[in-house]
Amino acid sequence: MIPFNKPYLHGKELVYISEAVASGKISGDGLFTKKCHDYFERKYNFKKVLLTTSCTDALEMAAILLDIKPGDEIIAPSFTFVSTVNAFALRGATIKFADSYSDNPNVDPKSVLSLINKKTKAIVVVHYAGVACDMQEIMRISEKYNVPVVEDAAQAIDSFYRDRPLGSIGTFATFSFHETKNIIAGEGGMLVINDERYINRAEVIREKGTNRASFFRGEVNKYGWVDIGSSFLPSDIIAAYLYAQLENIDAIQQKRKAIWDRYYQNLSNLGENCKIGLPVLTPDSTNNAHMFYIICADLDTRTRLISFMKENNVHTVFHYLSLHKSEFYSKLYEGKDLINSDRFTDTLLRLPLFYELEISQVDEICNLIASFYSE
Ligand SMILES: *Cc1c(COP(=O)(O)O)cnc(C)c1O
Repeated sequence: MIPFNKPYLHGKELVYISEAVASGKISGDGLFTKKCHDYFERKYNFKKVLLTTSCTDALEMAAILLDIKPGDEIIAPSFTFVSTVNAFALRGATIKFADSYSDNPNVDPKSVLSLINKKTKAIVVVHYAGVACDMQEIMRISEKYNVPVVEDAAQAIDSFYRDRPLGSIGTFATFSFHETKNIIAGEGGMLVINDERYINRAEVIREKGTNRASFFRGEVNKYGWVDIGSSFLPSDIIAAYLYAQLENIDAIQQKRKAIWDRYYQNLSNLGENCKIGLPVLTPDSTNNAHMFYIICADLDTRTRLISFMKENNVHTVFHYLSLHKSEFYSKLYEGKDLINSDRFTDTLLRLPLFYELEISQVDEICNLIASFYSE
């Protein structure tokens, strides 16, 4: 069976984990956490980063930092992972769901604009498959209505919008190092804070609502409970794994891009004959090869293709289910139909893409897809 995803060791993960243990400190904010923080701030020009236990936690921190309260509204795409909006629902916000473009799953700024009003407290965008949203339009809306932007950059590591790293544009950005992402640590994430005014409070929220971080810097002589918060910081064991991956980020990205390009090349015929839709890239965005997906004609075709691939030992998977139609939110949803989000719900299919996938396996997968469509 060719799996959909496979976690991997790239270099010194286990060596660094042993070093962390030998150092006598494996709780949060140890040596490897600091190395990861420095790496991200230097390489991507992020003002301040804080590793978290997940992207979900980083989103929850962003919602607390923005003081989201019952009665507030946030705007987010419907075609996304639950955590993008659950973090805000936890604080009592109403979620206004925006639609995707017709030709790719990123949020359409026109749809965002139609939902803005006085209650809007945040715009949350998701760079789907690591491909940038139209950040010029999104930031224009943000500035005009004075509403902060959170970039859910869970899939967007090492990807750029007009030469700016994704995650460096919004007030906050959140990343994931879950085993299905490009750079992994098992479970793990990161909050990026691009507006300095939020840095101190972010440290407090991450450390159970205490000013422990300033205490360790010698800024206060004892630490205590100063705000709400939770335990959002990961063990240094996670950071040790992550740091080993970061040391090899260029090799990892290069390999993933080779796989992605091979898929695109192999499937371009089917794309040109309109049997399937292929990912759409824009000139403003790089491709970080987070995901390779195809768009099937309809739900039935996709279901048959998934079974066909499975019978031939290839695990392919569909992706998000429109959140405005979810069991939890459909009863609360009062907005318009979101036809593009619903269409991607029914027709988008993700193909295996992981570091150890061989080019010959990519060819095998593409041949199977071609034979499915030639029947
Ligand atoms: C993976 C993902 C998340 C969740 O990341 P975790 O680290 O598992 O919490 C959130 N949003 C998007 C868009 C994702 O792809």
